[in-house]
Amino acid sequence: MRFELEPHHRNTKDDDLIADLRRVGNELGKASVTIDEYNDGGIYHATTLTRRFGSWFEALERAGLEKTRNLNISNEELFENLVEVWMKLGSQPKYNTLGKAISRYSSGTYEKRFGSWRGALEAFVKWANDGVAQQNEVRPQSPRRRTPRSPNLRQRAVVLMRDGATCRMCGASPNTGARMHVDHIVPWNKGGETVIENLQVLCEKCNVGKSDVEI
Ligand SMILES: [Zn+2]
Repeated sequence: MRFELEPHHRNTKDDDLIADLRRVGNELGKASVTIDEYNDGGIYHATTLTRRFGSWFEALERAGLEKTRNLNISNEELFENLVEVWMKLGSQPKYNTLGKAISRYSSGTYEKRFGSWRGALEAFVKWANDGVAQQNEVRPQSPRRRTPRSPNLRQRAVVLMRDGATCRMCGASPNTGARMHVDHIVPWNKGGETVIENLQVLCEKCNVGKSDVEI
């Protein structure tokens, strides 16, 4: 499930994304590249590749790199999956709700990595909150603009936890079939910054119904 369109690199060709993934592999001198390694050395964000190709596994396959996903799933990939599951469920995922239909990884994978399901959720919350703290330390991109336009995944996770995947305007949730967006309260193009205080969960219908449509 996508929260919104990827604003950056939407028009980048598949070949360019794959070429950059190969380049990172070559520079590392490794037969495979993890998401964290790619985010450190890549031109794009790993999320751009996973969205384009469906999964990190698929991106590696296209690049002719070894597929290590099952052996070496990064914490970030596990957390990203949790955000997606949370959006689909409309509430905090529970151990027994991580079925194959909605989650790329099993509850057992989280349990093994973090010791327990509770431990996984605690690590997830810390990851999201730490990301927001980092975001607030972002250096100015321009004299007038402090933050990037698009909320990052950690910000979305925090907003989601705060608003409960329920539309702040009409109360719709994924349980009632709504698609959810993370939206600026004061629109970015009217000077609103991409900070937690200025973000809210809206359903697609309410978001599109606003005069200042953001996608
Ligand atoms: Zn709504």
